[in-house]
Amino acid sequence: MTSAARVCVVGSINLDLVARLERLPGPGETVLATGYEEIPGGKGSNQAIGLARAGVSVSMIGAVGEDAAGTVMLDALRHEGIDVSGVRRRPVPTGRALIGVDDAAENSIIVVPGANASLTPDDLEDVSGSISQAEGLLVQLEIPLDTVARALELAGPDTWTVLNPAPGRSLPAEILRRCRVVVPNEHEVRLLGGVAVLLEAGVSWVIVTEGARGARLIGRDGSERRIEPFEVQPIDTTAAGDAFCAMVTARLASGDDIERAARAAAAAGALATLTPGAGPSLPTWSAVRSLLDA
Ligand code: ADP
Repeated sequence: MTSAARVCVVGSINLDLVARLERLPGPGETVLATGYEEIPGGKGSNQAIGLARAGVSVSMIGAVGEDAAGTVMLDALRHEGIDVSGVRRRPVPTGRALIGVDDAAENSIIVVPGANASLTPDDLEDVSGSISQAEGLLVQLEIPLDTVARALELAGPDTWTVLNPAPGRSLPAEILRRCRVVVPNEHEVRLLGGVAVLLEAGVSWVIVTEGARGARLIGRDGSERRIEPFEVQPIDTTAAGDAFCAMVTARLASGDDIERAARAAAAAGALATLTPGAGPSLPTWSAVRSLLDA
């Protein structure tokens, strides 16, 4: 048996506080919640969990507080078999998202970066070997940008470096040129200035996710292919993008070519829409394989 590919995630870790409400409060208004849950969140943590379920060996690199939420998050990641030795504890609050969801499924979200904002490029020096030797590195934009840049610099020459540019913003070419794959949604690709900007900066593959319409795979070699969506009856599309990014990175790190990896990712994104919430909806490789074979 060959051993599982190794993937590092350098990214955010949040505890999501989710209140269900009949309707969202306006400014100055107080409303009573009809339900409440605390669940693991943050794009880094979600994608690390997605990778672990995809069957690769995952190291999470990030920061949480010395508070109870930090312990909850470390336990949640360990429970998925993720190596958390690269997660720092800091004397500041763990990152949180305060989420209100109303009866029409409309939401309103306040993100408190907390410990995520304290992750510096220097924090990566201790784990540089683990980053440079991994087959995959997956990063997002919920931690300081210079830390994202340093993580990409530390990647080995053959590492599949994958950037999910969320939350959306424009990025310097210096960062983009170190990404072999960039996976934006339609909104994020506009903020980046379009696909051509990414390819000109040196990105090998851009995969634009288009929700229920699937995805577009565009190569620096001039190729463009559609990745057809898998037909599902969605219940909650939260984390479809996280499932997609995790699966594409897991499959590339495991040796699939880009088109196979993108198809597996589209299957993972579709499956993620069938379960409410983020963590619970991230699918396993065996569920994805069944959908691909169906
Ligand atoms: P994000 O959540 O980051 O905006 P998308 O909504 O584009 O990401 O979803 C990511 C991927 O998940 C899509 O490219 C698609 O393959 C899959 N997906 C999302 N929603 C659906 C859906 N309703 N039906 C089928 N596949 C979906």
